[in-house]
Amino acid sequence: MTGVYHHIAPVWAKLRLTPISDEFTYERFEQLLEDYEEKDKKSIKYFMISGPGVLGIGNSYLQDILFRAKIHPKRLVADINDEECRGLHGAIRETMKKAIELGGRYDERDLYNNPGRYIRILDSKAKGNPCPACGTTIEKIQYLGGASYFCPGCQT
Ligand SMILES: [Zn+2]
Repeated sequence: MTGVYHHIAPVWAKLRLTPISDEFTYERFEQLLEDYEEKDKKSIKYFMISGPGVLGIGNSYLQDILFRAKIHPKRLVADINDEECRGLHGAIRETMKKAIELGGRYDERDLYNNPGRYIRILDSKAKGNPCPACGTTIEKIQYLGGASYFCPGCQT
């Protein structure tokens, strides 16, 4: 993880993009995916945790982002079409804005020891339960050093 982080981090640092800033436009996000050198080899999860992870998108928020965007965590970056890219950008904005407004996740605490109010759609209890959108059973895989929860019905 550390090696990956060091390899990718300067790219994001240079862009100074945070997911909730006005500069994080669809056009810029699309350009990031387009310019990504390993897009034919790496998955969207890899891209998201090794890049924007620096900007505050952790593995847990990523579950909800990919769910909202209806994209499977193992999809190659190069395979993501324009419509999906737009959905993904919207899902990042929506998820991170909600997370900040609600003071973080319910399973983490702030400086004053108050729990956050952001309820994750796909958390560790989601596995085996029906998808809130389509009713398909949520699956869990171990992938890239962390658990990935996803709906095999919605996320392709
Ligand atoms: Zn579903």
